Order: sequence, then structure tokens, then C-alpha cells
Amino acid sequence: MQEPASPSETIHTDAVIVGAGPVGLFAVFQLGLLDMKCHVVDILDRPGGQCAELYPEKPIYDIPGLVEVTGQELSERLVRQAAPLGPVYHFSEMATGLERQNGGWQLTTDAGTRLQAPVVVIAAGGGSFQPKKPPIAGIEAYEDISLFYAVRRMEAFRGRNILILGGGDSALDWTLNLQPVARRVCLLHRRDRFRAMPDSVNRLRKLVDEGAVDLRIGQVETLHGEGGMIEAVTYKDSEGAAHRLECDTLLPFFGLSMKLGPVAGWGLEMPDGLIPVGTETFETELPGVFAIGDINTYPGKLKLILSGFHEAALMAQKAFAYVHPDEKLVFQYTTSSTKVKKKLGVAA
Ligand code: FAD
Repeated sequence: MQEPASPSETIHTDAVIVGAGPVGLFAVFQLGLLDMKCHVVDILDRPGGQCAELYPEKPIYDIPGLVEVTGQELSERLVRQAAPLGPVYHFSEMATGLERQNGGWQLTTDAGTRLQAPVVVIAAGGGSFQPKKPPIAGIEAYEDISLFYAVRRMEAFRGRNILILGGGDSALDWTLNLQPVARRVCLLHRRDRFRAMPDSVNRLRKLVDEGAVDLRIGQVETLHGEGGMIEAVTYKDSEGAAHRLECDTLLPFFGLSMKLGPVAGWGLEMPDGLIPVGTETFETELPGVFAIGDINTYPGKLKLILSGFHEAALMAQKAFAYVHPDEKLVFQYTTSSTKVKKKLGVAA
């Protein structure tokens, strides 16, 4: 079973943002205020970058005006703030290629999406989050055929006999979400305790009690199948006894690690894996390509969310010149601009 790629007609927009971390999300807002429509690509299946992925429940204390806010809540607030500006998100897609096209840029993703825009904003943080693979011999033979590290389209899994590995939020979320769609879902975890939201754990236990989901405790030792099609796994339980478990789809969720990823191949000088920029516009050496947030470097750079917010605001000023070359940009406060208020859907 191959997951189908998205339709591959070229999408034209004003700005393409790589990364839906806090800085990419705020860039949507700043660009939107200046009449620029954005498409945002992120390899994760949700917005928030490091805040949502690495410390969703930790309080952050240095966001101006918010005395205390968790990583998850900040991500949600940024998404809400940007929503009136109509961004289009492409989640679970890796931005793989960037090339000059028609005087602007074409960004391609591993799902076949092609986005063309005069402006590209690289807000890729510490790099792309990539799945940690379970150490099972021969696993590569099944990858992207019957074994997937992310769910792009639930429909692709309709009627499948799915085995999910892991005990964190992703493993539990997908067990719960795929249960109504799949023929059968089994969750296999090394112990009978989970590192997931209590509500998800309760819902899982209920489905297991009702017989709607199978739960096994143990660790996969061997994969069985042919031509990339998985047929069964052998797992060992806590006593060391081996069991065979039939399945036609395997979804391991063993967490994510950050790697610089494809950005390194986009023709930018990247000493120490960071993109050098000037502090007036945060434009890179490529015209119309900007780098903001944790991915950039300049004298005095601090890897803080608030630095990224400032960078997004200045970047948008220069980006405007690429998207609206014949218009003069007039600086306006959000408090007093009727145009801005209309855009945000608030009373003038
Ligand atoms: P990220 O948050 O890293 O987001 C980048 C996004 O880009 C990711 O979602 C990634 O998947 C995506 N991406 C990258 N490459 C690609 C690609 N090729 N294709 C598709 N998607 C891609 N900062 C503070 O200001 N205050 C704090 O208290 C604070 N506490 C922290 C605590 C911890 C434990 C950690 C780890 C960090 C903390 N930080 C804090 C730092 C803060 O989280 C970062 O500065 C911030 O997340 C940077 O935002 P960003 O949007 O630049 O990048």
C-alpha cells in the first residue's frame, strides 16, 4: 500500500513559509497584515514546532505580555491570531526542494506539492523533526510501502489491519483516530504505562475493555512479509516469550529527533548549520528568501521566541517589496488602522 501523493498542480501564492513553529506562525500574521497570502509547510502533523513537540506542557515565562503560557497554549494562540489572514497549512509534508522559477521561487515537498511565490521564508528552527526508527533488522524494506512513520491521510488506512508501536501521545492519538477507520487496530507497547494525555489513556483503556482495540505488551523482534508488504511481526513479552501477531500495516511512533534536513541543500552558505542574515531585513544571500527564528545567525543572535517575532516583523517589510513592487508601504499601527482591523475581522 503506497500513500498517494497530493495533487501536483502548481499553487501560486505570495509567500511560502517553511516551518509552522512559533516564528513561522507569527510570520503568517505579519505578512498577512501587509496583504501577503501564505502557504506554510511543516513535516509535523500539527503547528507549534519545538513548543508543541518538545515542551507542550512546560510554562514559558518570557513572552512579552503573557506572564506564563505553556508551549501548547502559545502555539494555539498564534494559530488563532493568524487565522483571519487565511493561511493554508501543509502538515506532514517535508519541504525538499527550492529552485528559482519565473523570477520567484518554487518550493516542492515530498508529497508532490509545488508552491510558487516571490517570497520564501525559512523558519525551520533547529531543522526538521524526523522519526526515530525502532531498531528492527530489515525495517527499511517495508518503509513507505506498508510501514509509515506518519499518517498523512487517514483514508489511506481504511480497512487495514494496523499494528501501532509506541506509548506516547502520537501512538495513542493515532490508535484512537484510526480505530473507526481500520479493520482492526492493535497497540503494542513495551510496558502497560503510557506517556500520553490522561484523557487519551482513559479513552484507550475503555476501547480495550470494550474489545474495540487490542493492546499487547512487548517489543517487536522480527518483521515478516514479502516485497515490502508486512504480514506479521514477532514480539517478545516481558517474560521473554515470543508471539506472532498478524498485521498488514505497521505504524511505529517512537518520537522525533531534529535534523537540519533538506534546507542544507538549497544553495545557502550555512556555517554551523545556520543561515547568516542581515539584521535589517533577515534576507539571505538569495533574493526573496528570508531566514527567521532559530535557523538564522547574526552577531548577538539569541535563540528566543521573542527574537523570532521581531525578525518576522522586519522580514515582512522587505517581503512586501517583492510581492507588491509597485506599491509604497505605509507603516500603520494595528490599533489605529481601519484596513488592518477589517483584515482581522474586528470592529473599526
Ligand atoms: P521551531 O520551533 O524549531 O519550528 C521549526 C519548524 O520547522 C518545526 O516544526 C519543523 O518540523 C519545521 N521544519 C524544519 N525543516 C523543515 C522542512 N524541510 N520541511 C518541513 N518542515 C520543516 N524559547 C523562549 O523564548 N523561551 C523559553 O522559555 C524557551 N524554553 C525552551 C525550552 C525547551 C525545552 C526548548 C527545547 C526550547 C525552548 N525555547 C524557549 C526555544 C524556543 O522553543 C525556540 O527558540 C523556538 O521554538 C524557535 O522557533 P522557530 O519557529 O524558529 O523554530
